[in-house]
Amino acid sequence: MRSHYCGQLNETMVDQTVTLCGWVHRRRDHGGVIFLDMRDRDGIAQVVVDPDTAEAFANADRARNEYVLRIVGRIRLRPEGTQNPNMPTGMIEVLAKDVEVLNTAATPPFQLDEHGKVGEEIRLKHRYIDLRRPEMIDKLRLRSRISHTVRAYLENQGFLDIETPILTRATPEGARDYLVPSRTHAGSFFALPQSPQLFKQLLMVSGFDRYYQIAKCFRDEDLRADRQPEFTQIDIEASFVEEDDIMAITEGMIRQLFQEVLDVELPEFPRMPYAEAMQRFGSDKPDLRIPLELVDVDDLMKDVDFKVFSGPANADDGRVAALKVKGGASLSRKEIDDYTNFVGIYGARGLAWIKVNDRASGIEGLQSPIVKFMDGVIEPLLDRVGAEDGDIIFFGADKARIVNEALGALRVRLGEDLDLYTAEWSPLWVVDFPMFEEDDNGRLQALHHPFTAPSCDVETLKQRPAEALSRAYDMVLNGTELGGGSIRIHDQTMQQAVLASLGIGEEEAREKFGFLLDALQYGAPPHGGLAFGLDRLVMLMGGARTIREVIAFPKTQSAACLMTDAPGEVSGQQLKELNIRLRQKAKTENAGD
Ligand code: ASP
Repeated sequence: MRSHYCGQLNETMVDQTVTLCGWVHRRRDHGGVIFLDMRDRDGIAQVVVDPDTAEAFANADRARNEYVLRIVGRIRLRPEGTQNPNMPTGMIEVLAKDVEVLNTAATPPFQLDEHGKVGEEIRLKHRYIDLRRPEMIDKLRLRSRISHTVRAYLENQGFLDIETPILTRATPEGARDYLVPSRTHAGSFFALPQSPQLFKQLLMVSGFDRYYQIAKCFRDEDLRADRQPEFTQIDIEASFVEEDDIMAITEGMIRQLFQEVLDVELPEFPRMPYAEAMQRFGSDKPDLRIPLELVDVDDLMKDVDFKVFSGPANADDGRVAALKVKGGASLSRKEIDDYTNFVGIYGARGLAWIKVNDRASGIEGLQSPIVKFMDGVIEPLLDRVGAEDGDIIFFGADKARIVNEALGALRVRLGEDLDLYTAEWSPLWVVDFPMFEEDDNGRLQALHHPFTAPSCDVETLKQRPAEALSRAYDMVLNGTELGGGSIRIHDQTMQQAVLASLGIGEEEAREKFGFLLDALQYGAPPHGGLAFGLDRLVMLMGGARTIREVIAFPKTQSAACLMTDAPGEVSGQQLKELNIRLRQKAKTENAGD
């Protein structure tokens, strides 16, 4: 129906006759002449309709915003003084010969250029209209380009795109499963995959050697900022590889992606052990653009007359750390109070601080509610953090986990508030993760997932599981985990030992992962892989604020789709077929069943 997209027109095409199809972005009546800004996915072009072309004029006259039109016309230069250099098509306009109304449109629930005035809920409910906005189109176009570049890179490296099932058994990645009842197996359920983890490992056992998939994954997680219950991974696995191989392939992929799509040459990817990341940055995904570091001061605080510090300094699981901010002495009382509330979110019970006004004057030159307790340790403390006049030092003192989370988050917040960034892009690899972490009940949980290979042998793992490190690696960019993976266990005995450390006995292991344990017996090659979160990658590369902006039809924070009203109730008949009876409470909530 069309010859060109609106956004393709330019001044080299003057006098050409073109056919455009699209939506009326705006219509203006200028004393007898009608101007239509016509919009399609490529941009906006100005169309002029003259009363001389009577039929075209009548149609343009009845057109309203968001009507769908087909326009035939000739391109001409805009008259001097009416050109718009801010618009790609701003030098030209189309003089219409024909205007055909392909469809009318009801008044939209919001004007595209006034989307900011309505809440996100309205926009999500009418997502098909929100997606007409050029910024939204740009983000999805970027997403398409990113997936295309990734596919091309991986295909070039010999990876095969293989689909894995959506109706499957649970794969433990640390979240709750979405379950799907089986009609043909009464009382049994499929789980939607939290990741294709086990299938990609089985493909390695089959000998496919290099696999990838841009895969949908499903995790029924509790409401947390900026997560989606279904999201997309770039999932990768390869055989006969070690850490360095996977890291080289995937680093090459991200490097090429940034180069081709953003014209950005990423810097070196340093490697940092997990323990160092936690110690220096309080986070396993440190934002290295921010030049602030946590400094341990436990040894100095052991004997101070201030329990808040001496307690954690002497406790096995405690930590006292300082965070010096250059020039931070100018922070106001109110700003410091805000930061104190902020660290409270992470469980910190306060935020001690020292302002260094004039170091040469000793204690007199300091301003702080706590220096009076610091007899004898002030000088070594100031030396250790390298304090200079005009600096502020913040402190965290508590269980190490709380100090890391609180000061780690404060560090990122200060970086943002004070614009401390030293680079645009700061990638790194975090390596040498612990195999396990303890949950609140003192039970070991896999830090990655239970198929990750430990760096020790079976005996050592059995003896000291809590100390074992894993062969896992995470790629981090600007404080965001882009992807994570590991070398896998390819030996049945080791797999059983790891499951046993997690408290999964032989019977349960058989029940849940018997197929994997069996497969490991039949010649499983050494293998490993990694998965990138595509949504987050697109968000970062496109400068979007939330992952909802880079997903065509996202769900809300409460895991619902406002447009389709999913999840929805189902009929009694459907439930019956599925052999499901709702419990009393749900029944009243789902009135009508
Ligand atoms: N399956 C892992 C995940 O989804 C990634 C991997 O280990 O390859 O996080």
